[in-house]
Amino acid sequence: MEGENRFWYGMKSDVYVHICKDKALAYDTKQKKCRVSEDKHVIDLLRKTEEEESLGCVLIDEVEQLPSVLKWIQLTCKENMAIKLPYYKEAEHPVILRPLLSLNKDVSKVKDEKFMPFYWGANMKHLLNGLTSYVNANCNLNCKKCGSYCSQIPYCSNCEVKNGTSLSASQLNSLFSDLSTFPIRSINIFGGDVYDRVILEVLKNAVERYSLCFRIYIHYEAYQKNSFVDSQVVHLLIPAGFNTEYLRDVYKRLDNTTAVLHFVVEAEENLQTVDYFVRKNKVINYQIHPYYTGSNRVFFEENVYMSKDDLMNTKLSMREIFRNQKLNANNFGALYIMPNGSITARMDGPTLGHVGHDELIDVIYKELTTNTAWRKIREGEPCSQCVYQYLCPPPSNYESVIGMNNLCYVHNNNSNV
Ligand code: SF4
Ligand code: SF4
Repeated sequence: MEGENRFWYGMKSDVYVHICKDKALAYDTKQKKCRVSEDKHVIDLLRKTEEEESLGCVLIDEVEQLPSVLKWIQLTCKENMAIKLPYYKEAEHPVILRPLLSLNKDVSKVKDEKFMPFYWGANMKHLLNGLTSYVNANCNLNCKKCGSYCSQIPYCSNCEVKNGTSLSASQLNSLFSDLSTFPIRSINIFGGDVYDRVILEVLKNAVERYSLCFRIYIHYEAYQKNSFVDSQVVHLLIPAGFNTEYLRDVYKRLDNTTAVLHFVVEAEENLQTVDYFVRKNKVINYQIHPYYTGSNRVFFEENVYMSKDDLMNTKLSMREIFRNQKLNANNFGALYIMPNGSITARMDGPTLGHVGHDELIDVIYKELTTNTAWRKIREGEPCSQCVYQYLCPPPSNYESVIGMNNLCYVHNNNSNV
């Protein structure tokens, strides 16, 4: 009978396919299910189905296929990731729509004049989704890890006091006036000393005049009662090895249900202390930030490294996978203001402008065209050769501080970490 052993085979439209040298991955964005094959013939089959001219499916003659390929076809069809269509000699080649990354508004085209209207003005202002200002470098606490924590995780810093100064009232006013024309309303404030009288006056004024609101990050030992600070969202920064009694006292005094506690952890016992503290004090809003000390390799690997299981169980939409091919979701849209007025797109990043001298829109344009952080994706080795390349979360501060492209068990490169 005609077409008895033949059928069309292709992956469904919700399934993302990624092929590298020796592996192929099929990730169903609807069912959040992942299949990986290392079989050369399956890889070849998927490569063919992904070719433009195949229109999403290829003709399979069952008799000619190897058992491993037939097994893959059977499995993916049974799991609803792929589809088999009957073959009729006279019928046209069927079409399965495959997901395609649309590059119409690709930010890398921002320099191209014909794409300018997409980005310039109001459109570009929408790109700014996070602004962090280190208002000054004046702090008397002398924490041992000052200046180190902040390069990996959100933390205050005296910004190496020797260089550090303070943003002046006029710099801050000019920043907030510029920001008032952006959609973003919530700003992160870090010290130094966030209780500085002049700074607080400017922040208060910005709340009244521009309807801005602030997330104020304060080292728990520096926390003081202050009606304005407490009216904003307080984020307490808590180092590893914190003083439990002192923190409990601060937490009681806070009396602010929106407050968020940020715990830094460097070792397993820190995690236990945090766990005990949050349970005992019924803390609801808190985040845990692992910190790489240079000598806590095992702890860091256990708590930060991605494993195959993590990746196989990841839950991403097609949009998020495509986003990972173009943008760094950790960094995109964020700017940092340092106490000396320099503006960067990541902590310790190159200066893109200066408060009071450059408008934020020009800084955004500069970042889009030079890419110091917003479009840093997993394109270095070994990630560029990895089948999980775009399922994997984008590179973070950890990678740059540690000097490795991958923090995972998938490609063990015997680093010193
Ligand atoms: S409280 Fe923050 S800014 Fe002050 S010394 Fe400690 S880490 Fe540095
Ligand atoms: S970090 Fe890189 S090498 Fe490791 S799983 Fe992710 S993409 Fe692959």
